[in-house]
Amino acid sequence: MEQKRILLCLAHMSGREMDFIREAFEQNWVVPMGPNVNGFESDLECFVNRRGPGADGRLQTPLDKKVCCLSAGTAAVHLALLGCGVGPGDEVIVQSFTFCASSHPVTYLGATPVFVDSERQTWNMDPELLEEAIKDRIAKTGRKPKAIVPVALYGMPYQVDRIMEVAGRYGIPVVEDAAEGMGSCFDGQVLGTFGRYGVLSFNGNKMITTSGGGALICNDAESAREILYYATQAREAYPYYQHTDIGYNYRMSNICAGIGRGQMTVIDEHIAHHKHVQALYRELLADVEGVTLHDNPSPRYDSNFWLCTVTLDPSLKVKGQEDAYAAALSGAVGGAAGVVHAAKTPTTDCQPNANVEAMRMALDAANIEARPLWKPMHRQPVYASNPAYVNGVSESLFHVGLCLPAGPWVSDDDVRRIVDTIRDAILD
Ligand SMILES: *Cc1c(COP(=O)(O)O)cnc(C)c1O
Repeated sequence: MEQKRILLCLAHMSGREMDFIREAFEQNWVVPMGPNVNGFESDLECFVNRRGPGADGRLQTPLDKKVCCLSAGTAAVHLALLGCGVGPGDEVIVQSFTFCASSHPVTYLGATPVFVDSERQTWNMDPELLEEAIKDRIAKTGRKPKAIVPVALYGMPYQVDRIMEVAGRYGIPVVEDAAEGMGSCFDGQVLGTFGRYGVLSFNGNKMITTSGGGALICNDAESAREILYYATQAREAYPYYQHTDIGYNYRMSNICAGIGRGQMTVIDEHIAHHKHVQALYRELLADVEGVTLHDNPSPRYDSNFWLCTVTLDPSLKVKGQEDAYAAALSGAVGGAAGVVHAAKTPTTDCQPNANVEAMRMALDAANIEARPLWKPMHRQPVYASNPAYVNGVSESLFHVGLCLPAGPWVSDDDVRRIVDTIRDAILD
């Protein structure tokens, strides 16, 4: 019998979504505002403002951040940068080891992303390299970078205390890209609430979904109001259209927000399940030599484990690795809206090791979706000429890493099947 395909991370409905959507239709709120948008924003505010015990074990008082719902996480990055005053000719420091949505909006604003490599503990922005980059940009351009964008890759918090300390010392605002890290905590505080702005994504494969959507966590009501102004075409309060600024059509629809409200009833369960899947991988992979699970480096870190990730020792022998790159790929990762730009060559000058590709193919043949780690932005052709401060960490991880399925649809039996498939693919 054909086994079901285990996907990387698949949306999981609570059953409440249709109630909120039906209500929107009944009340004729089929527009980018309305009761679901307001309700979803207040649910999100409750979620991001709560805090557990801090590093000293003491209870922390809740925060008072505001949340704006937008049409995508990418839109949230864009408006956060706008809110930091980023414009043509400016530079923005971005973690290189990320998905392109962290850096592309910098270019939308006519500014230049400057990439900073990762440290080995969290795989996120290296604070020492960050400081080196800031100093060097000031020396070379005479100006400070306008913002810093650290990323919670696969949900893992970056070194929040150290990044915030460096940013604070130079007076540069931080835009936290917590698109993959919704609900991840550092010292008991939710990611996205440490910087000037925090980005969340509700794309189909993220921790929760609104089919497509995102949100920006803002410091206070005034900055949230400014973000909403730019998200709604920068309209002013006249009986006719009056514009003094360029705006965007980035507000979330009341239908999508209805899905979001339904999802908020299960987000804590979802996160608990992702952590459970990670714990099971931890247990089952413990004695698999040459395969290392990426994990929280210390109790201060509390990843949501949006995706579980492993690295393969370069000396590990995997069945079929000699032919791993022989066949040209016909698909692409993600398959965004079914749109794929055909690859020009079967290989590039920076790609996962052959044993990693062979492991991905072995999993695929067993109906299990795995994916290489994100290719660092400083190795992407589109950013070939951008300044980059590099220590080799993200590129070396890209060569050896794989993302494994996680999330509410992945059962204990699925994790066992995945780990068994990994064991079987290893030559001894
Ligand atoms: C998904 C993602 C985004 C953007 O989110 P969309 O909602 O897909 O626009 C931004 N940054 C990172 C790191 C992401 O993974």
